[in-house]
Amino acid sequence: MLCICGLSIPFIASAQEMATRFEKSGGTQSSPYTEVIDFYHQLDKQHGTVKIVEAGGTDTRHPLHVVYYSQDKQFDIETWKADNKVILLINNAIHPGEPDGIDASMMLLRNAATGKINMPENIVLAVIPVFNIGGALDRGSHSRANQNGPEEYGFRGSAQNLDLNRDFIKLDAKETQSLIRLFHRLDPDIFIDNHVSNGADYQHIMTLLSTQHNKLGGTMGQYLHNIFEPAIYADMKQKGYDLVPYVNHWGHTPERGWIAFHEGPRFASGFATLFQTYSFVPETHMLKPFKQRVEATYTLMTSFISLASKNAADIRRTRKAERAATADLMTLPIEWKVDTTKPDKIEFRGYKSGYKPSEVSGKPRLYYDRQQPYTTQVTFHNYYKPVLQADVPKAYVIQQGWPKVIRRLKWNGVKMQALERDTTINLSVTYIDNYETAKPYEGHYLHSKVKAHTVARQIKLLKGDYLIPTNQKAERYIVETLEPTAPDAFFAWGFFDAILQQKEGFSDYVFEDEAAELLKSTPELRRMLKEKQQADTAFAKDGEAQLEFVYQHSPYYEPVHMRYPVYKLEWQQ
Ligand SMILES: [Zn+2]
Repeated sequence: MLCICGLSIPFIASAQEMATRFEKSGGTQSSPYTEVIDFYHQLDKQHGTVKIVEAGGTDTRHPLHVVYYSQDKQFDIETWKADNKVILLINNAIHPGEPDGIDASMMLLRNAATGKINMPENIVLAVIPVFNIGGALDRGSHSRANQNGPEEYGFRGSAQNLDLNRDFIKLDAKETQSLIRLFHRLDPDIFIDNHVSNGADYQHIMTLLSTQHNKLGGTMGQYLHNIFEPAIYADMKQKGYDLVPYVNHWGHTPERGWIAFHEGPRFASGFATLFQTYSFVPETHMLKPFKQRVEATYTLMTSFISLASKNAADIRRTRKAERAATADLMTLPIEWKVDTTKPDKIEFRGYKSGYKPSEVSGKPRLYYDRQQPYTTQVTFHNYYKPVLQADVPKAYVIQQGWPKVIRRLKWNGVKMQALERDTTINLSVTYIDNYETAKPYEGHYLHSKVKAHTVARQIKLLKGDYLIPTNQKAERYIVETLEPTAPDAFFAWGFFDAILQQKEGFSDYVFEDEAAELLKSTPELRRMLKEKQQADTAFAKDGEAQLEFVYQHSPYYEPVHMRYPVYKLEWQQ
């Protein structure tokens, strides 16, 4: 007889039986994807406080799941908002090689459901059990060469081999498309993205990357920096963990200090910041055993929960105030750099480092000596200042021929008005003067160092083109994605590359005569050519370049070449 074992035998575990693989293995193993999802389905069946739901598609055959925890067994987002619940969105396995959050979250939700930990009434958890499913299914034991366990784990690359923690503006992966739509439905107060760090050896088990406080904004930034973050550090200290800011040192050992990591909007946490969400990236230390790391992640999440509960009113108040203040700003920063004039001193517990001959190459190699721990004060540069600001227009205008961008704006809840009839209006129009293009990066050829100039022009718009008013919740997102010189703008990610190429040209021998006529009939053009000839000797010797110059300043030259197709409707026309 054929045995189709295991297909239809329902497994109902009691609360006691719902130990995780992590617990059963003594802290050496992490649950694989299907086991994680099955675990939450069981928890959902047994406890009214837990609910697992699908939250959109992914680049695999599996849906994205979100697991909610609500102490009052109520799962309507609008009711949560009306009841002033603080919503914590917790993301796991954006990098599946760093699975600590997967196993810590399973225990956290089970322990909350069984009453082992007291979940405050005013808190709601939304936990993504496994975000990068394609990567999680690509399970092995070698892709994290330096990491101390678990025995098996997933791979950093997604089903499309993307690093999903660079995908939050371009949204190439369905996982990210699903997550950002969930994000906007929830409008979480706090976003936590669990990771494991790389880099130096030191004593700290848990490092914490809090979103950059200046970039977050005045009210929220000060509250984060002066109150909430110190409270997290103090709470963790009481629980036996010395937190330290994410050890962002490269090219030297950490006792020389470091600069706070700057997460632009392409990162999950930097993206969340654009929508006035407090965001945090816990990074456990890769050289600590998996067991210690998962326990630290679990403990840190309990600190976030209890402090979010205690500070609920301030969290709500500061988010609201920040949104109101943003709406009043006439300029918004779009690029930041570290401000080295305001160094902090922080306590760092490291291991003495040195150099010895490499057994591989014979050349000097770095090592850390765990027999020589030290505690010292290091310099931590945690202030950033804007280096580029954009004037916020009354509205941006995008023509209907750019659906990939329009779709992404809509997924992000951007309110747009489609024009009801053809119209010609006076708009600020930007021309791209210069840019650099990098090697392939996350499926794109990222542009940077974009130089542009803006002029007023009459632009003919068609019925169906879109007006995007800036006076809305997504204001910062709109400005940072639509200003072409912003480092994470759609322009930078290559969404408008078609404008960088000319579609028509001319035959020299024919245009020579046209150009001569044009110069005769247009004194202004004649003057401009002469000036350029006098100023630029290479140009003066180059016949082709001069003909091209005349062409580019003639009516034959196509107006859309290098013209950035998102225009600005200014406040005063
Ligand atoms: Zn990571």
